Amino acid sequence: MVNEVLNHKIFLTDNEFEELFGPQIAFLVNVMNRVAVEVCPPCNGYCCKNIHCIFYYERFSTCPIFDIRPRECRYHFCHEVFTRASLTKEEKDQLQQPVEELVCGDRGEIAKLFFLFPEFPLDEQGPFGKAVAGEVWKIKDEFARGRINENSAFSLIKALCCEQI
Ligand code: SF4
Ligand code: SF4
Repeated sequence: MVNEVLNHKIFLTDNEFEELFGPQIAFLVNVMNRVAVEVCPPCNGYCCKNIHCIFYYERFSTCPIFDIRPRECRYHFCHEVFTRASLTKEEKDQLQQPVEELVCGDRGEIAKLFFLFPEFPLDEQGPFGKAVAGEVWKIKDEFARGRINENSAFSLIKALCCEQI
């Protein structure tokens, strides 16, 4: 049974993600994350940019809300990461199962876990994106002008997330 409070949160901590999807999925996602740490930096967030995430900024060294990123981000790994991960075929199938069930299945319990899927909750055209886009751009601009450092920029962006949920 899906935890209804967590189910309606856009931003999730590691523990909340594990509570929603279970320890096995959390373990597999962590294996993928360790590969992503090696593969992603030279790529500089191609997928984040491509999905029009309001928090993506090419001048940032990483995702500004990494530890509270949404379930959609936690479940996304490109082919490069997916193929490099040392998981068995069964484990990789298991990892893809919730998304496949949502897309191909009866959109029951799994759909509750991806309640915004396939819309990305941090798209600038979505309700959350529209509400905070102006503030986010101000923060990026302050950072670009050297008025605040990256830690401060990330804290301000995270505060916006907490205000909106
Ligand atoms: S998941 Fe893939 S596309 Fe996205 S930042 Fe990492 S390497 Fe780049
Ligand atoms: S919130 Fe998600 S899409 Fe946006 S920068 Fe972070 S990981 Fe990328």
